[in-house]
Amino acid sequence: MAIVEPIPQTSADEPRRLLLRNTLNNEPIGEIEVQAADAVNAAVERARKAQPEWAALSVDRRASYLRRVVKIVLERHENIIETVIRETGKTRTEAISMEIFSACDAVSYHAKRAPKLLAPEKKSLHGVMRFMKKLTIHHVPLGVVGIITPWNGPFILAINPVAQALVAGNTVILKPSEVTPFSGQLLAEIFEQAGLPEGVLQVLMGDGQTGAALCEAAVDKISFTGSVATGRKVAEACGRKLIPCTLELGGKDPMIVCADADIESAAAGALAGAYMNTGQYCCGTERVYVVDSVADAFEKEVVKRAAELRQGDEGESDVGAIFWPRQMEIIEGHMADAVSRGAKVHVGGRRNPNLDGLFFEPTVLTEVDHEMQIMRDETFGPILPIMRVKDEEEAIALANDTHYGLGATIWTNDDFKATRLAQRIESGSVCVNDMTVTYGCLEAPFGGRKSSGVGQVNGENGVRGYCHPLPVIVDRFKGKNSRSFYPYGKKKEDGLLKAAKFLFGTALGRWIS
Ligand code: NAD
Repeated sequence: MAIVEPIPQTSADEPRRLLLRNTLNNEPIGEIEVQAADAVNAAVERARKAQPEWAALSVDRRASYLRRVVKIVLERHENIIETVIRETGKTRTEAISMEIFSACDAVSYHAKRAPKLLAPEKKSLHGVMRFMKKLTIHHVPLGVVGIITPWNGPFILAINPVAQALVAGNTVILKPSEVTPFSGQLLAEIFEQAGLPEGVLQVLMGDGQTGAALCEAAVDKISFTGSVATGRKVAEACGRKLIPCTLELGGKDPMIVCADADIESAAAGALAGAYMNTGQYCCGTERVYVVDSVADAFEKEVVKRAAELRQGDEGESDVGAIFWPRQMEIIEGHMADAVSRGAKVHVGGRRNPNLDGLFFEPTVLTEVDHEMQIMRDETFGPILPIMRVKDEEEAIALANDTHYGLGATIWTNDDFKATRLAQRIESGSVCVNDMTVTYGCLEAPFGGRKSSGVGQVNGENGVRGYCHPLPVIVDRFKGKNSRSFYPYGKKKEDGLLKAAKFLFGTALGRWIS
């Protein structure tokens, strides 16, 4: 079974085409033409032409398009749900919560906050300079932004950066994943329906070739969400061109269950963290460290709850499909490696034999260790490996024993302890008594450390990250001071040294400076 299949070309000049199949039943769902470098460059040129007029609109006017988009998303919700399910196989509940609800929340949020966030900021200068100059920081758009997205949240992971880049005054070229291109196409339709001027948002179909061409094109920033391996290539391309990029990459998020945790809540949270979106969630729970004294109770509760989860291709279901075969291969590889090294399977552990589509059963493993891939590499599947630890110190050491650093969760009844532990975890964010919900907390900067990424989406850095913070410094005396700049000489040098000694060498001076 393949979800993305190349369609044989009849001649070498013919554009490459890909056939897409439904992950639930292998039925064809459509074709796309892979856009080559020429098409990408032409799109960038159109975007470049459209940008000044778009940037000249007030932030509030640009935000008004986003408000219209939210209205259309709500009106066309069935269309979006159907498209997302058809190309991912996620559950209907997840299509609504992750794609519709989160999309409306994110776009409304940016539309509402952007005018304040992008307003010019007056700053008081330090020391004596405050009497001589005025500083204002203007958030000016970067220009044309390329946005490259993955398949696990095809609508939300595209609409969120697109909304931020647009409201900041950029024009945008979106390259959605070749595994989920139709959500990207739908997004383009929705923005068009909202009346967005031509050339302001263009969506290009294609695979890695198109993504690579976009990185090489004359764009001013790349916002990339995807794997670590591709993220490195994107960073290299942007580095060569000296353009900024944000990289939102993979993770291997740890969950720490302390001895004083509420075991029922922690078990429920572990399941949600590990199985939401069938585990194909960048900051899903990929490994659990539970303190010995509560490990029996925790494991028992997890196993009981996991065994009750429903998986199916129709009707109500809790755990959906794997979105494409490449991911299934990784999941099965990690599973086989863990079992061969002594992991114990309590629930699941295999493809669902009762379903035709790409379904892997929600799985609980114990007796795992850091020799196993399941504890080291991103699995991105519905597997919950649980490792017992002596105490919280060991849990922290193991949580940090990874090159990833996206999210983490800590379960305890002691918020102060949780905060202390959180600061010792090398990850982009930490949630306490919750699964990783940082992406939905739009005020929070979301991004990874170590190999999990560079830069942040959301938070103030999100929208502002699509701008250059331009300091405009105005002399209060209309430039008259420059008349005394030259000539240099002993008198000036003595004066400067005297001023330095006063400002940095006396209590009064330090107070002023
Ligand atoms: P991927 O890296 O294979 O592909 C991501 C996108 O990059 C796709 O659109 C693809 O066509 C494009 N691409 C491929 N080669 C390229 C190249 N050389 N240059 C430019 N673009 C190229 O990732 P994926 O398998 O689609 O997504 C899954 C990964 O994404 C997981 O590792 C997951 O953790 C991560 N992810 C991270 C976040 C986050 O916010 N940190 C969110 C969601 C997913």
